[in-house]
Amino acid sequence: MVLKRKGILLLGSTGSIGTQTLEVIRAFPDYFEVIGLVAGNNIDLLRKQIEEFNPKFAYCNQTDINIQLFDGTDCVYMPIESMVINPEVDLVVAATSGDVSVLHTLSAINSGIDIALANKETIVMLGNLLMDAVKNNAVTLLPIDSEPSAIWQCIRGEDNNISKLIITASGGSVRSIPLRYMKDLSPKEVLKHPNWSMGNKITVDSATMMNKVFEVIEAHWLFDVPFEKIDVVIHPESMIHSLVEFNDGSIKAQISNPDMRLPIQYALMYPDRKNNKFIKSFDPVNIGSLNFFNIDYERYPCFKLGLETAIKGGTWPAALSGADDIAVEYFLKRKINFLEIGSFISDILSSHKNIVNPNIDQILNAASSARERGRLLIR
Ligand code: MG
Repeated sequence: MVLKRKGILLLGSTGSIGTQTLEVIRAFPDYFEVIGLVAGNNIDLLRKQIEEFNPKFAYCNQTDINIQLFDGTDCVYMPIESMVINPEVDLVVAATSGDVSVLHTLSAINSGIDIALANKETIVMLGNLLMDAVKNNAVTLLPIDSEPSAIWQCIRGEDNNISKLIITASGGSVRSIPLRYMKDLSPKEVLKHPNWSMGNKITVDSATMMNKVFEVIEAHWLFDVPFEKIDVVIHPESMIHSLVEFNDGSIKAQISNPDMRLPIQYALMYPDRKNNKFIKSFDPVNIGSLNFFNIDYERYPCFKLGLETAIKGGTWPAALSGADDIAVEYFLKRKINFLEIGSFISDILSSHKNIVNPNIDQILNAASSARERGRLLIR
């Protein structure tokens, strides 16, 4: 019997998660079919991906280049709005960073297409609006992020008995740098993540632990667990990707080498599991010891600031996301130093006017206003 392959539309195909998603697809050619690819500006890589995966349609940001991009292939140019409602697509993988894919993700959900979500801004900003759309359209939202994926794997079959989630954090690239040197850290130093290979924005977010704030919010919405039942611990080895405590005190943890292809494959293949010969197996003896620490708030001021802001709800999480976007951008452009990221975000948020129960326009506007406020502050 020949089974129909799962048709994948990949948003953000040339980024870190995008290229690793294609590595998973490459390992299982009988299982997946690339229907569409969407990239930003990395035309050379997109062209190579089109040649290898032979999608039916593709898109990149530079419209003038689209014609030659498809020369000599069967691939046709298609706007993203049309791709995300195309009936040949079984699963949209949202692997972009920032809020560029928020509306496209919502369109796909509203057309009844399942979503594998690597982009945490979407869930952070939209919150219950996203979860309601998922419920109303009876689609499945599959997390790609390693920590939500770990929680999801631990609670399969017994999500009624959760007493606590414990999300692990690597502590990022700055975790052992003496505090007095932190303000002098260059973007290059901060971008050197000890365990994970990821895009620039998320690697800086990992160093400030704003990334962990976003993951707490993500877990809150995905698994319907109140904020007070979500803990975060530093776990430098990044082998345990999160833990779930159940009502009887028993704890389940999901363990693997830090390799994003595992959570990607789990989301793409769910509920199946197949051996991927390109992913190294885990050897506990080789790993030796695993360590856990409480968060040092002096080292990670963004964590406290971010969490206190986000749990206020309304448009606060969107404003936080926008403020963080611009703060990271200015850090990478060396307009603010590493230790100024938190105070810069705090300054931006001081002028935010919250809207309770916002609609999608008000949410997107809260993020763009925060970015604009950041630009004004620097000027
Ligand atoms: Mg993560």
